[in-house]
Amino acid sequence: MKKEYLNKFYQKTHAERIEALVSAEIISQEDAVDFKRKLALPDEIANHMIENQITTYELPLGLALNFLIDQKEFIVPMATEEPSVIAAASSAAKIINQSGGFETTIQERTMIGQIALTNISNMNQAEQNILQHVDQIIEKANQAHPSIVKRGGGARSVITRQIEADEQYDSPSFFVIHIHIQTLEAMGANIINTMVEAIKPYLESLTGGTAIMGILSNYATECLATVTCRIPVSLLQKGNFSGEEVRDRIIEACQFAIVDPYRAVTHNKGIMNGIDAVVLASGNDTRAIEAGVHAYATRSGQYRSLSSWTKAENGDLVGMMTLPLPVGAVGGSINIHPTAQFTKQLLGNPTAKELESIIVSVGLGQNFSALKALVTEGIQKGHMGLHAKSLAISAGAKGEQIEVVTQELKQRKNMNLVTAKDILKQLNNK
Ligand code: NDP
Repeated sequence: MKKEYLNKFYQKTHAERIEALVSAEIISQEDAVDFKRKLALPDEIANHMIENQITTYELPLGLALNFLIDQKEFIVPMATEEPSVIAAASSAAKIINQSGGFETTIQERTMIGQIALTNISNMNQAEQNILQHVDQIIEKANQAHPSIVKRGGGARSVITRQIEADEQYDSPSFFVIHIHIQTLEAMGANIINTMVEAIKPYLESLTGGTAIMGILSNYATECLATVTCRIPVSLLQKGNFSGEEVRDRIIEACQFAIVDPYRAVTHNKGIMNGIDAVVLASGNDTRAIEAGVHAYATRSGQYRSLSSWTKAENGDLVGMMTLPLPVGAVGGSINIHPTAQFTKQLLGNPTAKELESIIVSVGLGQNFSALKALVTEGIQKGHMGLHAKSLAISAGAKGEQIEVVTQELKQRKNMNLVTAKDILKQLNNK
């Protein structure tokens, strides 16, 4: 890849960006012709993906640049409708790139399948029976999905949990069995669900209980991705704020999100701006990641910041974040959606672990940009500048009018739809 052709990507027109992708040898000249149609999801595929399909729902796909992750450079595809997300990710990556980039540690990927049983007269006896038959349970689970075992994965271990009856919610006691499964390059929902459903009757016979369900848990606490980055204060100066001031204010802003759930939700939403965009662009399941990540934010008993920002001994700002990220490099819509195929190729056909590294890094970068803006000039300056474009389009501006209305809107005190419509009206009356 000749990435020098992507310099000042944001200043290029749409046509120039596609040309740059060709010059950078990311796509061929042939692919560049009718690029959008080639990546679109054909109705004949969409029709088989969901029920009652009538059309497709499009979102912009853009590229975040400058990412250096574990000493490897990435151009990161992001699918999002929100202005400023990609600009913020690229800008964070540029700064962090200059100080060594992101470093990640990815846990051995193990997913959890749950079977819940009720009506068990003796929980301790049931537990004993399960623990005495772990090998048989694992064998039966693996027999239900032999192909994953052939690939080197499959069920690995079993644990039991007893959940007491809860009067407040009028709930019975539950006896829960977790089966830990390695799904390798797949997120594994279907592999896990097949296995847990297959072993339900056997678990009923071992415990004498009634299995109410068997399904994966999206709280993927055995599939964690950790990212760290270090930024020297020399790279943090902004406006009238010194690098030291920006660092200390970012640390305080993060502490605020650690102790206050009202702030933590917004703080984490900013992180998910980046994460969801890459998860979606890669063809993975955004709801699965969202549900698991937010649950992980409550692991201390209170909803808190997912990231932490601290001061290193030498004065650098240090960012860190750990998230459950059970994404797949195969399976689901990844292999059938043409855009997901393209984004996979763009990322250099990453393994599921590499994809986790990319996603968790984008999340931390996104968080850094948001905090830096918030504690210095405020978020609106950059955000509303980009939002002006959406307002211009909402007001009805077309073609070259979009840029004219956007620029005029940025000068106005009240940047809103009414003002955008006024500007457009005046333009049309000229
Ligand atoms: P698939 O059902 O598409 O399964 C992936 C398949 O890929 C495997 O079964 C395996 O099939 C094949 N494969 C090829 N190479 C590999 C490899 N190296 N490692 C692992 N598998 C490989 O996808 P998932 O089981 O991952 O399920 C993901 C989908 O499930 C998502 O679309 C998600 O939205 C959906 N889902 C999510 C739920 C949830 O999150 N609660 C619930 C239900 C569904 P083989 O070995 O036979 O070739």
